Amino acid sequence: MEDRTLRRNTTQRMAIEQVFRQHARPLGVEEVLTYGRRLVPSLNQATVYRNLKILIDDGWLKRISHPSLGALYERTGKGHHHHFHCRVCNRAFELPGCALKEEEAAPDGFVVEEHEIFLFGVCPTCMGMAE
Ligand SMILES: [Zn+2]
Ligand SMILES: [Zn+2]
Repeated sequence: MEDRTLRRNTTQRMAIEQVFRQHARPLGVEEVLTYGRRLVPSLNQATVYRNLKILIDDGWLKRISHPSLGALYERTGKGHHHHFHCRVCNRAFELPGCALKEEEAAPDGFVVEEHEIFLFGVCPTCMGMAE
């Protein structure tokens, strides 16, 4: 019994990992569920939440706070970077690198420890559809 539960959880976790490998951008729970069900039809929201938490505890995923979409999840190990939110398709994308000079961004007396930046606009796919 114990064994079967363990194996099923592993299959579901592998499907969730596969989803993140297939989509190189931050994903919300609903997206993980939608894409994950194509691999494991029995996947449900509780399973997705539980496995996302395990993957975060393992250091494989990290949670980012999107100003309007809420919690998104992305792979760790990519270094510091920012995100772009497309207002048309409501998807978040990773942007390479960082152009912000923290020490120049805050007035004297403020000690900056970290920052998170979201750019908003229209992604190339949605721009193409508009033409
Ligand atoms: Zn878009
Ligand atoms: Zn930055």
